[in-house]
Amino acid sequence: EKTSVTMLGLGAMGAALARAWLADGHPLTVWNRGPARAAALAAEGAKDAATAAEAVAANTMIVVCLLDDTSVEEVLAGTDLVGKDLVNLTTSTPGQARARAEWARERGARYLDGGIMAVPPMIGVPEAGGYVFYSGSREVFERHQETLSVPAGTNFVGEDAGFAALHDVALLSAMYGMFAGAAHAFALIRKEDIDPTALAPLLADWLVSMAPAVHQTAQQLRSGDYTKGVVSNLAMQVAGTPTFLSTAEQQGVSPELLTPYFELMRRRLAEGSGEEDLTGVIDLLVDDRS
Ligand code: NDP
Repeated sequence: EKTSVTMLGLGAMGAALARAWLADGHPLTVWNRGPARAAALAAEGAKDAATAAEAVAANTMIVVCLLDDTSVEEVLAGTDLVGKDLVNLTTSTPGQARARAEWARERGARYLDGGIMAVPPMIGVPEAGGYVFYSGSREVFERHQETLSVPAGTNFVGEDAGFAALHDVALLSAMYGMFAGAAHAFALIRKEDIDPTALAPLLADWLVSMAPAVHQTAQQLRSGDYTKGVVSNLAMQVAGTPTFLSTAEQQGVSPELLTPYFELMRRRLAEGSGEEDLTGVIDLLVDDRS
């Protein structure tokens, strides 16, 4: 028998999750602040609760996917969470997730936090490769893993409730660095007779071939030896930076996306780390005082 699910929040993501469970035959109770979205799900077979409290009372497994942590607090404030398995798929910071876990515990609920690594069209489409990081109650994760696997893949990253959010933000932060690099690359060719659609496949292939470098970075961080396996050392790379800055200047492109990283490379080199990989930059970013 399929687990009955309560779903609070039917925005773009919440509705996609709800539809995946409905399509898989899970009895579903829904609630949304604006009633139109809940009515649409009711027409597809969900039970439309009049209030959030009524929706929470209907089932043990409560999934929340709202705009932000503040809306989660507002929506759950008037509900009885005693004995509930609360799965919060609302994007938050690690600190918010930890505080929400404690908040839920004080109200008698078990808490599992989630960070969704997918966009709504990927939900319920296993081939799309979307998944959700989970952290917090291992008990809730294991009890509901089959149900949680319906909309997207699952990856439990630890009992610290903040870890799902931390993994989510870490991956997305790296993505922004990649987008920043691609933006600079497109800017360099912008005024030339080079078709951006011809550069794009070259760029995509290059980024994919460079991406595995993160494994060496991780090994170096674990061993503490940042010189192991170095192919292009820091001294050589810093010596190459004027080429990048001059090229940007020649193309009339602001170097502002590159300079912060180059500055960190230079600072690390100045500490006498010329033989290292770029890994030492990470140490410069981490504030040891906190
Ligand atoms: P939407 O903006 O589409 O939906 C927001 C939802 O939150 C709606 O159900 C809205 O209700 C509700 N809401 C907002 N404020 C309140 C409030 N104060 N009280 C009650 N309900 C409120 O967002 P998404 O569905 O796209 O995103 C939901 C969560 O999923 C977010 O945390 C987002 O970061 C995360 N996520 C989204 C992804 C995406 O690509 N969309 C990807 C990964 C994560 P109403 O209908 O009444 O306005």
